This record gives sequence, structure tokens and C-alpha cells, in this order.
Amino acid sequence: TLYPVEIRLQLHCYRGKKVCVAFVIDQTDCMALEEELWLLAVTDTLTNVYNRRYFTQKLEEEMERVRRSGSSFSLIMLDIDHFKNVNDLFGHNAGDLVLKSMAEMIANRIRKIDTMARWGGEEFVLLLPETDGNAAVILAETLRKQLCQMEIPVVGKITASFGVASYSFGDTVDTLVNRADKRMYEAKSAGRNCVR
Ligand code: GH3
Ligand code: MG
Ligand code: MG
Repeated sequence: TLYPVEIRLQLHCYRGKKVCVAFVIDQTDCMALEEELWLLAVTDTLTNVYNRRYFTQKLEEEMERVRRSGSSFSLIMLDIDHFKNVNDLFGHNAGDLVLKSMAEMIANRIRKIDTMARWGGEEFVLLLPETDGNAAVILAETLRKQLCQMEIPVVGKITASFGVASYSFGDTVDTLVNRADKRMYEAKSAGRNCVR
């Protein structure tokens, strides 16, 4: 069987000769705990998608990658429309269920190489490697349609507004995220439940 171990070596003198004693310690439980701790550190507990800190790290890595490879990537920022009303009308637990259902739907729809995170309260962000602006708008439109067709217990139907931004040379995490955020607010101003 293969399993992770820690090996400790001790040098002894035995009958005038140098002898090395190795202690081999099974680390399976320790590694499992480490994995569990890592997941706790990078995940949003309510929705089970990544948190903002992990997303920012991932975004920095992706920027570094495209600076070398010259490929493209895009961000989608989305914010649930009139979410305050959901809480006010149906209660905070129903609001939480909306966040969980929406996050699950989107997480199941995107590719393995994409990263989804909860950016803030009812705002989520997607990192889409190897995706130009047009392809990202098409995906955002698909997600928007799927979301407004989804029936959530107690609450019924919800909508969200989407903003798309693609990486341009010279962008930083802040400039790119701000552009996606600005586009999302343009979608809000345009009447919500749309992609900009
Ligand atoms: P808009 O269409 O302009 O986005 O309106 P909105 O009501 O969605 O936006 P607003 O920023 O006024 O309200 C966001 C609400 O999201 C307020 C806050 O109570 C709620 N919220 C944030 N985080 C959570 C959460 O974890 N659970 C629940 N149930 N509500 C949350
Ligand atoms: Mg909102
Ligand atoms: Mg918001």
C-alpha cells in the first residue's frame, strides 16, 4: 500500500559503528486534517463555493499565466436582484436557501477549470480561463436564463444582474474586478435581469 509517512532518522553509535535508526510514522490522518483545514480556509461555509481570498489568489495566478502565454480569460460578476426583498418577505433562512440554490446551480453548470467564489453577501464572481469576452457574455446569458427559470421552494423565482470583463494587458486584480463590477451595475441600471 502507498500512504504518506514522516521519517525521522537518529544516528547512534553501536559497538563502535555508526548506526542509523529510522522511525516511519503514518501521516494519513494528519494529511486528511490538513486537507480539511485547507478547505475550511478557502470555502464560503454557506454556499460551499470558494471565498473571496482564494479567488483573489487564483486571479493573480491566472494573470501571471496569461502574461506569459498571451491567452485570454474573463470574469463574470453577478448580483441577485432585489435580494433584500427576499429576506424581508420570506425571512433570512429563505434568503440563505436562495444563495445556496443559486451557487449550486452555477457551480454545476461551469467547467472544471473555472473558479466560482462568493465575492460578498449576494454577489458572486466567476473566473473563466481561456475565454474571451464574447464567450463569457454567452455563458452569462445562459446562466441568467437558467437562473430566472429556477423554482426555489417558498421564494419562487429570482433574477440576477451580470457584468462581464475580460483581461487586458496591464490589468491588476483591482482594475479587472472593478470593471466587471461596473458592468454589473450597468446591468442594474438597465433594468436588472440582464448581462452587460
Ligand atoms: P439590487 O437589485 O440593487 O442588488 O438590490 P438588493 O436588495 O439585492 O441589494 P442590497 O444591497 O440593498 O441588499 C442586499 C441584501 O443581501 C441585504 C443583506 O441583508 C442580504 N444578505 C447579504 N448576505 C446575506 C446572507 O448571507 N444571507 C441572507 N439571507 N441575506 C444576505
Ligand atoms: Mg442585489
Ligand atoms: Mg449586492
